[in-house]
Amino acid sequence: MANKYRQDLFVILRDFSGLVQILIPQDESKSEVKNAFLGLTVESVIMVKGRVRRRPEGQENKKMSTGEIEVCAESIEVLNTCRKLPFEIKEFVKGAKEFVVPSGDPGKFYSLPQSPQQFKQLLMVAGIDRYFQLARCYRDEGSKPDRQPEFTQVDIEISFVDQAGVMSLIEGLLHYSWPEDKGQINVPFPAMTYEEAMRDYGVDKPDTRFGMKLVDVTTAFQGTQIEFIKDALLKPGGCIQAICVPEGTKHLKGKDLEFLKQTAKTQYGQEVSVAPVRADGSLKSPLSRLLSDAAKQQLLQMAQANAGDLIFITAGPRENVRPLLGKLRLQCAELLERYGVPVRDPSVFHFLWVVDFPLFLPKEDNPEMLESAHHPFTAPVPEDTHLLYTQPHRVRGQHYDLVLNGCEIGGGSIRIHNASQQLYILDTILKEDSSLLSHLLEALDSGAPPHGGIALGLDRLVSIIVGAPSIRDVIAFPKSFRGHDLMSRAPDFVSEEDLKPYHISVVWPSTDTEGQQDNSV
Ligand code: ASP
Repeated sequence: MANKYRQDLFVILRDFSGLVQILIPQDESKSEVKNAFLGLTVESVIMVKGRVRRRPEGQENKKMSTGEIEVCAESIEVLNTCRKLPFEIKEFVKGAKEFVVPSGDPGKFYSLPQSPQQFKQLLMVAGIDRYFQLARCYRDEGSKPDRQPEFTQVDIEISFVDQAGVMSLIEGLLHYSWPEDKGQINVPFPAMTYEEAMRDYGVDKPDTRFGMKLVDVTTAFQGTQIEFIKDALLKPGGCIQAICVPEGTKHLKGKDLEFLKQTAKTQYGQEVSVAPVRADGSLKSPLSRLLSDAAKQQLLQMAQANAGDLIFITAGPRENVRPLLGKLRLQCAELLERYGVPVRDPSVFHFLWVVDFPLFLPKEDNPEMLESAHHPFTAPVPEDTHLLYTQPHRVRGQHYDLVLNGCEIGGGSIRIHNASQQLYILDTILKEDSSLLSHLLEALDSGAPPHGGIALGLDRLVSIIVGAPSIRDVIAFPKSFRGHDLMSRAPDFVSEEDLKPYHISVVWPSTDTEGQQDNSV
């Protein structure tokens, strides 16, 4: 929540219904209120009274359903404080970063590889046209439940290969090494485009072991008089989509539906309507009163709904609706399984290639800018190359992901082997400092062969094969969720004496009130 431009302080207050930004008063007369806020620990319980106002222009947060407003605190009552928790409630760091390791050279550090990507490409340029390694990789991922700071990849790079060549190599490798007691796996694996995955499953790594696919029911609502639906349809990409949970009325309880609706509201800023199908096949929903009989019939037909099923319906821009229903689909599967209803067979292994990804996606924190969907060395699909210079967001990449039971277990691409195309993508499209990659650009300019590769996440693959709930269960000496070693307490402080050889001194974050502080409560 840090914001460079405002000198304000705020906390994010959470209750069951969502989040809201509280502005902490700065004026002297309110110093008591300010001090009460500043002394708080994360997850403390507070009551705030204040005035709701529109946030100053340019300070809105589109990702928050309450992102247009803030509460100017006038008083605060601390109802209970929270001791320092041994785990984190909120997501801290998004996206992976390299770890840096100090060296004896003043001011110089090693940056541990997230993967040996650049080196394996340089190897191809050097003329060694087959590379295979069980590579130790390091990613500073913060708190992601299924990730570890240290992990192992089956890392591969090949010269003079195309997408089909890499895919069949991996199929052969997995087929050959697959444990006998887990049953035979069939190759080639099925493939699905990114667009199909998003359209039918709302995610780019679909779990294809069960149905409950997303259906577009917009046409059933054509000409509707329902205000909020009319509004949603007028927005760019506006649509109405649904998922149908077979026998949902029998198994899902009121509190489950509440939980699912809350997920929609708090995580996606979307309302979801739940429409049970009665024993006589009719819809039982406030929406149904507003729909004509023909429209209701069409909706039931499109969703392939039968008596006893539950239909979840939501309206909005496609890029919101799809991931939301994708998430609800998985949450419904989990809830049903918790009630003993078999949805996903744990003994089956559904491999799936996802292909034809966009080469670039809007940046999460700045949707005006583009970032690579895979990494910046991925080559465009040849037919789309001309779009790089006119409509880069429409270019598809020669990028393939391997998905197993809804988890991404590998990904790779055919690489750019033309230095000027690589430079254009780095400089003009991604707006990155290409001088940091001058070694690679120089190599590409020195007779680089066409090449491509892939990396499989070995720990993730093994955890799925053995049915372990977390990759930590298949890693020797894993770190905790936050990347800590709970017994030796690493990472730990190092004395000034020990830091001296590395020319490092620790600068502690200042505790004064300059700038903003993120004190989520
Ligand atoms: N280096 C990539 C990764 O770790 C995989 C690849 O493109 O080969 O995701």
